[in-house]
Amino acid sequence: MLREVGKTREKVGRKIIRIVEELPMVGTRAFGIVDMGTNIIEVRPTSLCPLSCIFCSVNAGPKSKVRWAEYIVDVDVLVNAVREIVRYKGCKRVEIHIDGMGEPGTYPYLVDLVQELKNIDGVRVISMQTRLVTFNEKKLLELSEAGLDRFNVSIDAVDPEKARYLSGSEWYNVERVIRLVKYIVDNTKSDVVFTPVWVPGINDDEIPKIIELAKNLRIGKRWPPVLIQKYVPHKHGRKVPVREMSWGEFFKKLRDLEKKFNIKLIPSAEDFDIHKERPLPQVFKKGDVVKVRILDRGIFVNEYLALPIKLTGSHVHDRIITVIASSKLEDVLIGQRIKVRIIENRNNIYIAEPVEF
Ligand code: SF4
Repeated sequence: MLREVGKTREKVGRKIIRIVEELPMVGTRAFGIVDMGTNIIEVRPTSLCPLSCIFCSVNAGPKSKVRWAEYIVDVDVLVNAVREIVRYKGCKRVEIHIDGMGEPGTYPYLVDLVQELKNIDGVRVISMQTRLVTFNEKKLLELSEAGLDRFNVSIDAVDPEKARYLSGSEWYNVERVIRLVKYIVDNTKSDVVFTPVWVPGINDDEIPKIIELAKNLRIGKRWPPVLIQKYVPHKHGRKVPVREMSWGEFFKKLRDLEKKFNIKLIPSAEDFDIHKERPLPQVFKKGDVVKVRILDRGIFVNEYLALPIKLTGSHVHDRIITVIASSKLEDVLIGQRIKVRIIENRNNIYIAEPVEF
């Protein structure tokens, strides 16, 4: 089911865990599938990332001090799960969005994944969130030909020094990223949408430059070209010591920029063809006690992955659960069957704590 395939390269390396056999693909944020009850299905093939962005909401990359495991899921496991979930939803306009708690570009089987997902009946669009850093021109062409319709490119600054600072990585080269975007536009059928994170006080001057760049490169042929993300500090994420913008302030700034650049920056659900679709069933409620087997480490320190003992064999109805317990109990807990109580259930992501063991 799970196999340890290595360690990350930092001093205190994290376990890299490969998911090689059927395991519920719904239930954790760290890998698999996230369903929000719409026609967009988020697919998360890996949590690995080579960058360490200073604002990263999921605290990924070599500089992370709060992760103790990374995951990589085999293509077949993911594709089987997506096929079953698309059938369950009964929707003919599904968009698969490849994303996750890492950089999808680190996934070694990305071209196969895109190709197989595109062949699923009902899947219309495949998009991917990426910083492009792991790709070259040949790989971009292969991805496009495999059926990737849209690259959501995270680019937070045009100025090379500022971009390097935001990426938390000395080697990050935004000029190369821009050349790759130009290559996609000029040589492939895929579209590009820029998705910068606006960190107030850090890249305010860069946001207008990114909008101008999007216009100059003529990205956004099928979709609005720039989707600006508001910096929001998260529980496990890396925090930037800045004053967070309120949502009101953020949208006012976007409206001002829309006027200034004559561009749409606040898209509607129709622009991205997002609509409600049959959600996956909620399997457990808060307070439920579930008997599970602890499989391995969870993504963050003091988290474990757990598999309920009772399973149906269906990705629609089975869930993986994250159990919060001290990392010092690793040797005792892994492999054990214990009872856990569900303490959080949001969008079919389950967090639990041990009741007894
Ligand atoms: S923001 Fe994305 S690219 Fe940057 S460290 Fe986090 S996961 Fe990696």
